[in-house]
Amino acid sequence: MTATLNIHMSSCLFCRIVSGEITATIVHQDEQLVAFQDINPQAPMHLLVVPRRHIANLNDLTEEDDAIVGNMVRLAADLAKLRGHSEGGYRTVLNCNANAGQTVFHIHLHVLGGRRFLWPPG
Ligand code: AMP
Ligand code: ZN
Repeated sequence: MTATLNIHMSSCLFCRIVSGEITATIVHQDEQLVAFQDINPQAPMHLLVVPRRHIANLNDLTEEDDAIVGNMVRLAADLAKLRGHSEGGYRTVLNCNANAGQTVFHIHLHVLGGRRFLWPPG
């Protein structure tokens, strides 16, 4: 493992959840992705889908990450479907940097459902 990855694993909250160092309510894990309950849910369903690999946010994505992002979005749809939200609808959100309110700098897809959401968002 590279030094860079070690630094991320020790300092990044979601790297620590991925490694099992910090407990979360995990609802899915595979080779590439982990999904868990948001600790401060904003809807009856509020899950976060993260890649195991540390990527800070959308600005750091490269073409090599296309499969990861595609799989994150499809996993969100699968998790929403399992929870009965496919037909009624749900919201997926990727916050990037300060104006969007990003607080954890390890890319994560919010998957929210079980209530109606406003548009435009606040
Ligand atoms: P964002 O504001 O898009 O960066 O979202 C970060 C999300 O991480 C927020 O919705 C937080 O509630 C959530 N969060 C922070 N700490 C934890 C944790 N230990 N376990 C699960 N979710 C967390
Ligand atoms: Zn990380």
